Amino acid sequence: MIEPEPAFASNRPGQPAAYPEIATQDERFVPASEKTPGYNQKLPLRLTRSVFDDLSIWMIGVGIIIGAVFPPMLVGFGVPREIVLTPFFFGVCLLAGILVGGINIRLMRVVVMPRLRALVDGMRMIESVVEQATYTGDWTDCDPESCQLPVDSNDVIGESAAAFNHLMRVLQHSHQVEERVGEFSKTMTSQLELSPLCNGALSGFIAATKASAGAIVADVGGELSVLASFGIVGAESLTENDHVRLALRTQESIYVELPEGVSVNAGLVEFQPREVAFMPLIVHSTATGVVVLAGSTAFERDSRSLSQIFARTFVMALSNAMTHGNLQRIAALDPLTDCYNRRFGLTRLREEYTRATRSDSPLGLIMFDIDHFKLVNDTHGHLIGDRVLANVAKEAKQVLREGDVLVRYGGEEFLVILPGATIEGTAEVCERIRKAVEALVVQDRDQTISCTVSLGFGSFPATPADDETALIRVADEALYRAKNEGRNRTVAAS
Ligand code: GH3
Ligand code: MG
Ligand code: MG
Repeated sequence: MIEPEPAFASNRPGQPAAYPEIATQDERFVPASEKTPGYNQKLPLRLTRSVFDDLSIWMIGVGIIIGAVFPPMLVGFGVPREIVLTPFFFGVCLLAGILVGGINIRLMRVVVMPRLRALVDGMRMIESVVEQATYTGDWTDCDPESCQLPVDSNDVIGESAAAFNHLMRVLQHSHQVEERVGEFSKTMTSQLELSPLCNGALSGFIAATKASAGAIVADVGGELSVLASFGIVGAESLTENDHVRLALRTQESIYVELPEGVSVNAGLVEFQPREVAFMPLIVHSTATGVVVLAGSTAFERDSRSLSQIFARTFVMALSNAMTHGNLQRIAALDPLTDCYNRRFGLTRLREEYTRATRSDSPLGLIMFDIDHFKLVNDTHGHLIGDRVLANVAKEAKQVLREGDVLVRYGGEEFLVILPGATIEGTAEVCERIRKAVEALVVQDRDQTISCTVSLGFGSFPATPADDETALIRVADEALYRAKNEGRNRTVAAS
C-alpha cells in the first residue's frame, strides 16, 4: 500500500474547507465541475482582459456616480439648492468620488495583489521542482511537506492554495504508484525462470497489499500447481480451493471475509485471515492462474487497485517464463524417446563430472545399445523399429531414480548418468535396465517383438577418468566387450 499521507494542510479550524485525503477508502474521484457548484457558470461582466483593470474601472466609475448623485441627494435632505447645485460643488463631489475610487484601487493593489503574487510565485517554484523531479526521477526535494503552499487565509485565495496543494498530493501519489509499478515490472522482466519469478512476484504482491501470507497457483501443463507460497498453511490444497476455481471460472477477483479452508502461519501462531483476495491471472482472455493474498485486516482500496496492476504485469512475465521453459524443455528432449538429447546430455555429464570431482562423490555412467536392432528394422520396418526404440527408453526410465539422467546418445545407443552411484550401485542399475528390456514385448499385428540390450559401465573415481569424455570412452569399451561376449549382458569398465 502507498504510505499514508500526512493530514492536509488546510484541515485546521478557521481554514477553508479541506480537500479529502487522496487514499481514503471508498472515495471515488469526483470531477471539480461536480464538486464545486457553479464551476462552469459564466464569469461576471468583463470590461478588459484583466481583473484588476476591470476592478479599477468599476471603482472609478462608482466614485463618479456617487460624486454625481451626492449633490441632488443633499437637496432631498433639505440643504439649500443654491449651495449644492452649483458647478463648484458638483466638481468637488466628483473629484472626491474619483479620489475614493483611486484609494480603493491602491488598497486593492497593496492588500490583495501581494497575496496573489505570493501564490503564483509559490506555484512557479513548486512547478520547477516537480519538473526537475519528473526528469531526474529524484523526488526527495518534493516531499509532501516541501511541495505545499501555505494556506493562511480563509477565503478564495486560501482555497486556491488548498486546491493547488491537493493537486500536488494527487501528483505525488500517482508518482508513488508509478514508481512501485516500475520496480515491480523491473523485477518481472529481469527473470525468466519460473520459480524465482513467482517468488519475486509474490513478495511484490505481499508488500504492496500488506498481506500476511499469499500464494500463486497456476496452470502448468494442464494441471493447477502452486508455484509459490508464503505463510499459507497447507498451500498445496489451494489447487482444490472453491474460491480459486471460482476466480478461474468467472475471471473476476473475489474478496472473501474470514474464509474457511485458508489459515495463515505467523511463526508461533496460526490464525484465520480477516480477508482473502483471489485474483485471477488473465492472458489473452484466458485465466491461467490465481494470486491468493491473505490479510489480517481488510484490504484497502488502493491496495486492491495496485495489486490489480501488478497482476497484469505478472501474468505477461509468467506467460513468457512458461514459454521459455517449454522451449528449453523442447530443445533438450529427443522427440522420439522423450529422453534428453545428446547435446543436453553431454552438457549435463560435464556438469555432473565437475560436481563429482569437487564434492568427492561418485558418478556412475552406463552406456547401452540395443542388440541386433538392425534386424528389427529389417524384419518389421522402421516404424515398428521406432516403437521398439521408444519402449526400450520407457522401460529404462522406469527403473531409474529421480536425479538420474537418461540420454539418447546416438541411434539406438543410450547413456545413463547416475550422480552419486558407486560401482556396485551402477552395476545394479545396469541389471535392472537389462532385465526390464528383456521382459519387454512389442506387438506388431500378430507378431511379438522382443529385444535385449548390452551394457557397459563405470563409476568415477573407482573407474579412473581424466574427464567426462574419458568416462564415456571406458563405458563404450565395456559395452563393446559386452557385445563381443555374447550380448544381453553387463560388463564393467576395466
Ligand atoms: P548390435 O548393436 O547388436 O551390434 O547390432 P545392431 O543391429 O544394433 O547394430 P548397429 O548399431 O550397426 O545398427 C543400429 C541400427 O539402428 C541401424 C539403424 O538403422 C538403426 N537406427 C538408428 N536410429 C534409429 C531410429 O531412430 N529408428 C529406427 N527405426 N532405427 C534406428
Ligand atoms: Mg545395436
Ligand atoms: Mg548401435
